[in-house]
Amino acid sequence: MDYDMLVIGSGPSGRRAAVQSAKLGKSVLVVDRGRRLGGVSVHTGTIPSKTLRETVLNLSGWRERGFYGRGYRVKQDISVGDLVERLHKTLDHEVEVLQHQFMRNTVKSARAAVKFLGPNKVSLTTDNGDYSEVGFANALIAVGTRPHRPRDVPFDKTRIFDSDEMLELDRLPRTLTVIGAGVIGVEYATIFSALDVPVTLVEPRNSILDFVDREIVDDFIHQMRDRGMTIRLGSAVKEIRSKPEAAEVELADGRTIRSEVVLYAAGRTGNVGSLGLDVVGIDADTRGRIKVDPRTFQTSVPNIYAAGDVIGFPSLASTSMEQGRVAACHAFGVALPPPPETFPYGIYAVPEISTVGQSEEQVRESGAAYEVGVARFRETSRGHIMGVNTGFLKLLFSIETRRLLGAHIVGEGATELIHIGQAVINLGGTVDFFVNNTFNYPTLAEAYKIAGLDAWNRMGRG
Ligand SMILES: Cc1cc2nc3c(=O)[nH]c(=O)nc-3n(C[C@H](O)[C@H](O)[C@H](O)COP(=O)(O)OP(=O)(O)OC[C@H]3O[C@@H](n4cnc5c(N)ncnc54)[C@H](O)[C@@H]3O)c2cc1C
Repeated sequence: MDYDMLVIGSGPSGRRAAVQSAKLGKSVLVVDRGRRLGGVSVHTGTIPSKTLRETVLNLSGWRERGFYGRGYRVKQDISVGDLVERLHKTLDHEVEVLQHQFMRNTVKSARAAVKFLGPNKVSLTTDNGDYSEVGFANALIAVGTRPHRPRDVPFDKTRIFDSDEMLELDRLPRTLTVIGAGVIGVEYATIFSALDVPVTLVEPRNSILDFVDREIVDDFIHQMRDRGMTIRLGSAVKEIRSKPEAAEVELADGRTIRSEVVLYAAGRTGNVGSLGLDVVGIDADTRGRIKVDPRTFQTSVPNIYAAGDVIGFPSLASTSMEQGRVAACHAFGVALPPPPETFPYGIYAVPEISTVGQSEEQVRESGAAYEVGVARFRETSRGHIMGVNTGFLKLLFSIETRRLLGAHIVGEGATELIHIGQAVINLGGTVDFFVNNTFNYPTLAEAYKIAGLDAWNRMGRG
């Protein structure tokens, strides 16, 4: 065998599996066909969109608008150049850190497209046609996904873009239509809206972000509409046209939306097409997703694992990293405790949403008696100082056990604040934790204390 572990793809799951395997003293080769290491996460997904968001919030003065009014801007006439400058610096830094991490851990890497030749052998083909074969004891398929591009959508990078291509915009659109109100769609829609670009968000279903607590989503939708975004729910798209003067989106109800640019963000497809999975007998579904054992991440071929977006939900960089680590530990016989049931979900829209544990709908469905505690950020002194006049935290407690069942946040800092809720849930904490503990003051985290007290006042001492 040439390698103990062959990792196909250098995104979050591949990277983590590679480093974990190397830390266990194993020989590791990471092969990625991309120009640079890092995967979707570093080059077209997580890090670019979050960097764009941060730049937009800083340059637009978004966080200060609560004080100075909606017309406030730190920089007038924000250009694509302003946005891209920070993007490139951040991405270069991310790649550098990754390369250094591989070097320190003696993880080898190669740039090539990988194809299975058998359960212990792959071929590598480089861009200029060089061909080689590599033997492995274990492999991890960490090839991720690419934007779903239906044939009848005329993607042209002039008017109609997918979410990877949005980073190549050469100027800010005067108007934008976003099709698909999933996580990626709402993130980009609200980021451009924060730049005062008029945005129309189109979603064929009647609801959005169905895995999030309804009250949080309702507040989010209200905030989007309040700042002038147009949201068309229950609107199926009949046709998308790229015209010289504008992009046109014709809806099934007969209406047509015209805008300078359309972002089509309706789903992603697994990158399995050229892997030769049939040679080893691994199946993928119609969206290119591979089925694995959810505890070990083994595919139907025991020494071949799969992790990250290519195995489907939840398709997050955060969960992908953990999956890669667990797969590597399993491959080399390292026993791990079962993972916690709950993990946080972060949606980096403007405003942020983050959620952990059960939503109110799920608790209700379980039939458990529960109490809710709510705190608005404007009730906290930190919120006053920051000029925050929106955002809230909602906690759900079991009346029987007093345990925290779910924490849900919409507003500034949600994706950081959620980890308090995550820790309390996974450590089996109760409403009394929030009541009895002292929180830093003034902080937004104090909202946990306020929400805890809100529920406690109705639950009593128990
Ligand atoms: C716009 C956007 C925003 C996102 N924001 C967030 C966020 O805020 N938080 C979060 O947790 N997640 C976010 N995600 C999701 C996150 O990016 C993914 O969950 C994560 O990147 C998946 O990691 P992965 O390990 O599956 O590999 P990926 O990052 O998908 O990388 C896969 C790699 O495999 C390589 N590859 C593919 N086929 C082959 C082949 N045949 N041979 C060799 N190499 C191959 C590709 O070149 C690529 O480098 C976002 C995604 C998008 C698109």
